[in-house]
Amino acid sequence: MKTMEIGKGVFFVMGKHKGKFPFSNSLIVKHKVMLDLGCGIETVKDLADKVEFAALTHTHPDHCSGAWVFNFKNKRVLSPKGYKTELESLANRFVNEKLKERWKNFVTNTMGIRDFNAECYSDGDLILKEPEIVAIHTPGHTADMHVFYIDGRIIFGSDIDLTAFGPWYGHEESCIKEFVKSIEKVMELDASIFVSEHEEPVFGRENVIERLQMYLDVFERRNEILIKLLDEPRSLNELVKLSPFYMKKPYEKEMLDYWESQMIEKHLELLIERGQVVKVDGKYVSL
Ligand SMILES: [Zn+2]
Repeated sequence: MKTMEIGKGVFFVMGKHKGKFPFSNSLIVKHKVMLDLGCGIETVKDLADKVEFAALTHTHPDHCSGAWVFNFKNKRVLSPKGYKTELESLANRFVNEKLKERWKNFVTNTMGIRDFNAECYSDGDLILKEPEIVAIHTPGHTADMHVFYIDGRIIFGSDIDLTAFGPWYGHEESCIKEFVKSIEKVMELDASIFVSEHEEPVFGRENVIERLQMYLDVFERRNEILIKLLDEPRSLNELVKLSPFYMKKPYEKEMLDYWESQMIEKHLELLIERGQVVKVDGKYVSL
């Protein structure tokens, strides 16, 4: 397990496979709380004994797969208010009816997630008093996503993950406009350390802002890609086949196609609203 002290008593825990999906990085603060539990079941088992409780930024399996371990050890888990935490409810939110069983098998086999129980927190709640950890609601990626603002200087950024892929919003509940607002909200916080859950931490206020801006720019880049592709009329299915965002789908192609289709559709809605694309006879075309 690779750990790094990024602030006094604040330890970055690099997840399995360097925290790349289907795993994620965690933070441990003052041996009190572990933030997110997707770093790999074995690591969660080791670390659960070293903290008092855990808090989850959102209910994606790659961030909460180890929560059942905390249940098993009779330690509290905090999760966003209003969202159930058993697999069946998560499947209903994250895929369509046709893909449900497949998705449940995928997350169980690759991440080791099981049903778990959690207490809830809401936007603005204090996760910890000393040092202060505040939950800030940052929807867009999922409806329930929060970032944790630690001691007024460290952001645990969850899936504002700063990856080269860029923002991900492949669920029905995901929303580009909210995602943009959430990133802008995080940029306004006075943080000099940003912890992505799928990348290495970023140090220095200027670097943090620069990386967040690069990440934000991906939305417009994707709009431009679609506008170009729609020089000729194409249906949503045809666009998904061209895979303008994912480009390759090395596993679970059907599921990734479904998520990419959701992402493309959200851009198309936005471009229609802006008057840059129209829909004629079931096909989309640039104006
Ligand atoms: Zn996520």
